[in-house]
Amino acid sequence: MSGHGGPDPGAVYRSGGRKDCEYEYAYDIALRLARNLISHGATTYLIVRDPNDGIRSGSYLKNDKDEICWRSQKIPRAQKKRLGQRAKAINKLYAYHKKRGVKDENQRTIMLHIDSRKVNKRIDIFFYYYPGNKKGKKFATTLQKSIRSKYKEYQKNRGYTGTIKARDLFMLRETKTTSTYIELGNIKNPMDQKRFLVENNRQAIANWLFSGVVSAAK
Ligand SMILES: [Zn+2]
Repeated sequence: MSGHGGPDPGAVYRSGGRKDCEYEYAYDIALRLARNLISHGATTYLIVRDPNDGIRSGSYLKNDKDEICWRSQKIPRAQKKRLGQRAKAINKLYAYHKKRGVKDENQRTIMLHIDSRKVNKRIDIFFYYYPGNKKGKKFATTLQKSIRSKYKEYQKNRGYTGTIKARDLFMLRETKTTSTYIELGNIKNPMDQKRFLVENNRQAIANWLFSGVVSAAK
């Protein structure tokens, strides 16, 4: 799931007449990850979805406000209602699959975000789990391991410093699935931006997260 959507674009970065919104880039990566999961046979839901934006190429993903929350609910403006709506959607799906015998650890939610910090601050992909939630921590650790090993493979001398932290976030607290909240970088930093603006990099992040999900499912 990509965070934000509907009336909420998430973090916004304006420069040279263009307006880059967190939601659109996180959504494109979420779609790419979902495509990988579906082609691998995983039952996959996009909790927040845009009915007419598929996977997009190019470096500028225009913002709009027509996203809906599973299954076809209009997204409210107020934050508490907005998050409550998507947590409820996730928990409804969780209950549905639990009833049909799917184990808790096999029901996972990935929440994708892009942070907004000072322009010169670079941040590596990092993870949050709910304080004390062992399954959430383990899931985040497995995904982080995948990201680290891919950086090692493809950008040898780069180093990777993405962290895993416990944080009492509404969406981590309220969802019954094994959930992780991921910040993909700083939307204002020119180096970090390459991670979202370059289509191949969006695909790479999706692929790397996908391979983490595969290892988590083993
Ligand atoms: Zn966000």
